[in-house]
Amino acid sequence: MSAPHPFKNHPLADFTIKEVRAELQNALDSLEQERRTGKLFGASIIDGKVDRSGEATVRNDPSNTALEIGPVAFASKEQAQQALESCARGFHAWRARSYEERACIIEKIGLLIKERVPFFTSLLIREAGKPWRDSDAEVAEAIDFCLYYAEEMRRLGAPHLTEQVLGEENYYLYQPRGVVVVIAPWNFSLAIACGMVVAALVTGNTAILKPSEQTSIVAFEFAKLVLEAGVPADAFALVPGRGEVIGAHLVASPLTAMIAFTGSRAVGLEIIRTASTVVPGQQGIKRVVAELGGKNAIIVDEDADFDDAIRGVLTSAFGYAGQKCSACSRLIIVGDAYEPFLERLAAATSDLYVAAAADPASFYGPVIDEESASRVIKTIRDAQDVRLLVQGSIEPQSLGHGWFVPPTVFRDVPQTHSLWRDEIFGPVVACAKARSFEHALELANESEYALTGGVFSRNPTNLERARTDFRVGNLYINRLITGALVCRQPFGGFKFSGIGSKAGGRDYLVQFMEPRTITENTMRRGFSPDLNS
Ligand code: NAD
Repeated sequence: MSAPHPFKNHPLADFTIKEVRAELQNALDSLEQERRTGKLFGASIIDGKVDRSGEATVRNDPSNTALEIGPVAFASKEQAQQALESCARGFHAWRARSYEERACIIEKIGLLIKERVPFFTSLLIREAGKPWRDSDAEVAEAIDFCLYYAEEMRRLGAPHLTEQVLGEENYYLYQPRGVVVVIAPWNFSLAIACGMVVAALVTGNTAILKPSEQTSIVAFEFAKLVLEAGVPADAFALVPGRGEVIGAHLVASPLTAMIAFTGSRAVGLEIIRTASTVVPGQQGIKRVVAELGGKNAIIVDEDADFDDAIRGVLTSAFGYAGQKCSACSRLIIVGDAYEPFLERLAAATSDLYVAAAADPASFYGPVIDEESASRVIKTIRDAQDVRLLVQGSIEPQSLGHGWFVPPTVFRDVPQTHSLWRDEIFGPVVACAKARSFEHALELANESEYALTGGVFSRNPTNLERARTDFRVGNLYINRLITGALVCRQPFGGFKFSGIGSKAGGRDYLVQFMEPRTITENTMRRGFSPDLNS
């Protein structure tokens, strides 16, 4: 067993303390002032310059769609091309910096975010419709990525002597790849974008961030800090815009060496396909890291502690309206526990308080946009052939103002049904009964995805079986299945949940580099130290 990593996670805010609540409320009030005075907007940053030209769009508050947060200028293909050329030019100077210097700059990004925790938390509440606790946890995760990857680079940066043989030295070392295109989702618009960008930069690559269309304003605020921390203007660029237009252009470019993508399975597979097509001028095979979706299951065993399990299921399934790749969307209940557990779940789901994300009591808020709301509501309506267990409600003052979807649970869902098979990415859970614990494991593993999974049980034999046979990237026992912490719970899946190593873990940075071996004959025959100029 190796020693624990020296890194420590950033602590979460304790909103039970009056002063902590007041601090975030003040930040929300200040943000409102900034919004009213037109200070919130999204734009490209290329070569260190803010560029507000491009397609003019607007981001509205998903909790209150009448409220305009700010204008966003979507970049054109020409702007994306400028970003590529700038970051290709800047690569050699940035890679020449020592890894220690780069690690210090990345740490500085983390420290700058740390100084602005209430600001970023309030911006996520508004732009991403994410409730207080979830937004605070996301900002903490962004800080963690900066400090952890900086520390990791110190571990990996120096050449490593593989074997000392008389007359020969052998070194193993890493070099950066080149321009890394980072394509991020909206559901962790700060943390995931930040994690992928700082991983690319600390390893000596230059990085272009293409944030999600829905969350370009938080990306813009983050991008400003990257430059403020000391990343050179030609080592990083931000290009907000349409995925199928500029995202596709960045992926296909011969100047791109690597793509770090987090998002849906369909887009991830499309990116892998495009990246594997060689274009004129391309210097090598493009590397793709793609972290994709999930259809995650929780098993509730016959002897599970129902109090713990209900809490764990509700938070895992409905936290951030089920819009986490790690969210629980299948619930498998063993044998005689089925009916009594469903009875408790129905009562608890009806009691959930669903309201605007800025309301501190909100368990969850809106979904991200109108398209998402219509899609999830249609999925629920189309499931007429399945038995509805319960549908909760929306707090009356929020109802009709934002893109809200009530918490919805279906029971006795057949394994052939799309509710059971497809990622919904909303507050919808499909339940099924298992004959035995073995049967529960079979049902859980019968998925094209393998991201997270959970078991509530007090039976040591069953828990041991789950450890070996519940095949998911992150398995959680007797706790919720969301909220992985950087370093403590490196995160990521396999099957159609993605390709690449876990974010926030020891193998992550290595993907952004190429290993090299240098062997030197040190017998020094004819060696002339005086030639050293
Ligand atoms: P999405 O795939 O729709 O979009 C992700 C990004 O890809 C956006 O920036 C988008 O503009 C861009 N994009 C779209 N089409 C593109 C194209 N043709 N070429 C290049 N880029 C393109 O995903 P989303 O709706 O933003 O996020 C939700 C999805 O992300 C869910 O499936 C969720 O499970 C997944 N996700 C996975 C993880 C993980 O760690 N495994 C984490 C968060 C989210």
